[in-house]
Amino acid sequence: MDALIVVDVQNDFCPGGALAVAGGDGVIEPINRLAEQASLVVATRDWHPANHLSFEAQGGPWPVHCVRDTSGAQLHPKLDSNRIDAIVDAGREPEHEGYSGFEHTQLEQLLRDHGVDTVHVAGLALDYCVKETALDARRAGFDVVLHRDATRAINVSEGDDERALEELRAAGVRVEP
Ligand SMILES: [Zn+2]
Repeated sequence: MDALIVVDVQNDFCPGGALAVAGGDGVIEPINRLAEQASLVVATRDWHPANHLSFEAQGGPWPVHCVRDTSGAQLHPKLDSNRIDAIVDAGREPEHEGYSGFEHTQLEQLLRDHGVDTVHVAGLALDYCVKETALDARRAGFDVVLHRDATRAINVSEGDDERALEELRAAGVRVEP
């Protein structure tokens, strides 16, 4: 049983958003294609309170983004919502980072309830939430496939994307082009 996890394809991470990933909306077409193949499609959302610890005003590294119920926090409108079976919100508590879709959520239970053994991962951003979600899926014992063409990196430091891919491969994640 295969599941696709669509990580944080939200307006704030796409061009024009509060924390835009360069070319972030380029993941949408390949994700919509992957979603047609998957038995179960779960979309995660970064879903923060206004005082989340990752925000600069709280001493964190990021500008305010994906504040729950704002337009920036909504899934990108071009994502095929008919193909999404479940939505999992992460980073909901002020004091938890929540880069991984598995952190303080029901995602693992949801996958187990559906008998999932292989998890495909795509979305935004490769060097943060996609990486941490894929690593947690491996820790939970799933076979994990990362779809390189269906993710983009923030690259705060040049080469963060390549380092993320190395870390994923070392953890046993299969990286597909
Ligand atoms: Zn966030």
